[in-house]
Amino acid sequence: MTIDIATNLHTIQQRIDRACQRCGREPQQVSLIAVSKKKPADLIIQAAAAGQSLFGESYVQEFIDKHQQISTPVRWHFIGALQSNKVKYLRGTTELIHSVDRYSLAKEINKQWAAIGQTANILIQVNVGAEQSKAGATPENVEELVRKIANLANIRIQGLMALPPYHDDLEQVRPWFRQLRQLAQRIEALDIPQVSMATLSMGMSHDFEIAIEEGATLIRVGTAIFGERE
Ligand SMILES: *Cc1c(COP(=O)(O)O)cnc(C)c1O
Repeated sequence: MTIDIATNLHTIQQRIDRACQRCGREPQQVSLIAVSKKKPADLIIQAAAAGQSLFGESYVQEFIDKHQQISTPVRWHFIGALQSNKVKYLRGTTELIHSVDRYSLAKEINKQWAAIGQTANILIQVNVGAEQSKAGATPENVEELVRKIANLANIRIQGLMALPPYHDDLEQVRPWFRQLRQLAQRIEALDIPQVSMATLSMGMSHDFEIAIEEGATLIRVGTAIFGERE
């Protein structure tokens, strides 16, 4: 089966537009990240040719390989689990790291970005469902973590990210998205210097419309664009 990436992107944009209409938001408030993990560089180039400019990757080595292969100017977000000893490879290549869930990782990002005289944009990943199998700070720990990371000079916290528990019934997922938005609002209200809660990264192929209805500003969509992964 061949994948028609341009058509898939078009269909997703229509679904984004309709979801925005339903809840009175502007489609420009929602950015689509094409999650290209485990997909070859030529599919990314196809997506870029179809007008997609923002891509998300989950594995450091794979990302670095593709980053080198692709000369088309695209923007990259890192969305996967990140070990501190691999942060140096991401330095200066990613616009936003979605998966910061502990201070030691933030400290290393700060150090690496400081070394090139830049500031790293990050999101705090929150394990909203408190699932054992998933990364993320627990909702109760987010405030303390944000306050600590906010003191690092070469990091800017831009918001929160979550990967909520999977449900076939999307109405079961909605409360998790809502919880993330409410947590962001609570932290925003604390007015912590250098901390923004404007970005909410939530929603994947099967649930991005619900995430948009609940306030997502970044949706991370892989399968619906590039097809099933191996
Ligand atoms: C793989 C991945 C996605 C994309 O998932 P799809 O179901 O293929 O859309 C989104 N977010 C994260 C963190 C991922 O690892």
